[in-house]
Amino acid sequence: MVRVKLDIFGCCCPKVWLSQRGPKTSRFPLRSALSSLQKKEKKMELDWKVCSRARLSRDPRFDGKFFIAVRGSGVYCRPICPSPTANEKNVRYFPTAAAAAEAGFRPCLRCRPECSPGTPAWIGTPNTVSRALRLIGESGLDGGVEALAQHLGVGSRHLRRLFIRHLGASPNAVAQTRRLHFAKKLIDETMLSMHEVAIASGFGCVRRFNAAIRGMYKRTPTQIRRLSRQTGSLPENQYLFRLRFRPPYDWAGMLDFLKPRATPGAEEVVDNVYRRSISFRGTSGYFEVSYEPSHNSLVAKVQFGEPRALFFIIERIRAMFDLNADWSAIAQVLRTDPLLAERVKANPGLRVPGCWNGFELGVRAILGQQITVKGATGLAGKLASRFGQQLSSANGLTCVFPEPEVLAEADIASIGMPQARVRTIQAFARSVRNNEISFEGIIDSEVFLDRLCSIAGIGKWTAQYVAMRALRDPDAFPSGDLGLLRALSLESSRELELRAKVWQPWRAYAAMYLWSRPIEGRTRRSKLHSPQGKTAPGDLVSQPEATAAM
Ligand SMILES: [Zn+2]
Repeated sequence: MVRVKLDIFGCCCPKVWLSQRGPKTSRFPLRSALSSLQKKEKKMELDWKVCSRARLSRDPRFDGKFFIAVRGSGVYCRPICPSPTANEKNVRYFPTAAAAAEAGFRPCLRCRPECSPGTPAWIGTPNTVSRALRLIGESGLDGGVEALAQHLGVGSRHLRRLFIRHLGASPNAVAQTRRLHFAKKLIDETMLSMHEVAIASGFGCVRRFNAAIRGMYKRTPTQIRRLSRQTGSLPENQYLFRLRFRPPYDWAGMLDFLKPRATPGAEEVVDNVYRRSISFRGTSGYFEVSYEPSHNSLVAKVQFGEPRALFFIIERIRAMFDLNADWSAIAQVLRTDPLLAERVKANPGLRVPGCWNGFELGVRAILGQQITVKGATGLAGKLASRFGQQLSSANGLTCVFPEPEVLAEADIASIGMPQARVRTIQAFARSVRNNEISFEGIIDSEVFLDRLCSIAGIGKWTAQYVAMRALRDPDAFPSGDLGLLRALSLESSRELELRAKVWQPWRAYAAMYLWSRPIEGRTRRSKLHSPQGKTAPGDLVSQPEATAAM
């Protein structure tokens, strides 16, 4: 038995020391962790207590941040499992479900670890691990560990060591657990055939899928579906998923942000439900998301004809609504600033709204420069209905936002925009079409910002705003924002960057809090400078008006 240091509560929270068996793939980090552990024996005692307290209180804020395995039963659970509490001496703690699975434990059928809110988006681990997790989330480690490591610019042995050290499991185990969990969710929550479940969850064939499910759950997929007690039936190609978050969650704040920016025809917010059309690899459909506080979850209803896309769609919805955020860790940092403490207290659970499609968000941000929210929303609606694919009416949605290939060549001046704005949108569309700007996979924030700002008409503010919502970097920060400067009575973006250091790595959340503060005054053009040293037309910086216009 060795002990591994696992920082699962984020960089700002108490370190937790967990006990587990070291996988054979990597011994070095375990040895190093062991010696480190011996130096900090007292700290370990304290951290055991943190884990134990969270388990005994069944605190939902810890859901997904660690898993509890019980010797004897051989089962691992979420911290919120309603099953009778096991004696502490029989319990082992793991930072990820994959680590518990690698140690030979199987998922509890009662609390269903596959339904936990997922690993926090930023867990205080090195950037490489966070990026690797995102890639595995997007593509399921299709190309293998070597390709993943190459993509990240590190050696595969080093990547494995990082995974073992910070997540307690190898990249393969993490990817396999994700596949299995998603398959289990599809078995439990949909009526897809087992063949469709196998394909949709990335197993490639039914034989591999059956073997993996039996190996993990000690039951066949059919036996698991019988246990799921599904009630009611859904129309063809419609699926219902419950997506968990760690409370609190400011749903009203999320809708307040999304509603005025909803592109008519392509998205809408009605009766506390967000709804939008989607297109993926030639198939179109829609989804709608509602709030279910009693289950600490959002409910996503997805209408889509290609089940293979479900994994992607669900992951994208989770990102769009910032469901992986570990709000209590974020609040702990932001509360230390007296200016933010009051906002954090008044508005618990605020998230950074992401987006369904980075290209669409970019176009929307460009359209929003120097005009009101209402004006920008109207223009976006015209663009969508004129150049987007038409849908037969589905819950009020009539079109899908146009693809970059279409906008790069379309006569978009015809919807009534200044020529300069038309040229900016078309240059942006061509860059995305030609893969010079990408929103998928691993993205270097600096390179991304430079590329966006190299397009005439896109200024630093617009680029930072797009990065904040599309790259889902919790530390992305629009330091050229006049509203933020005003809120802090500062003069320059340099001063703001210095002031914002204390909010790291959560500066995107700090910006959302400061924007949600009512600020008097009208929208004004920026006096700040773009990276090229010129005032850029994209820099519309007064908040909250400017944010509202995006
Ligand atoms: Zn359980």
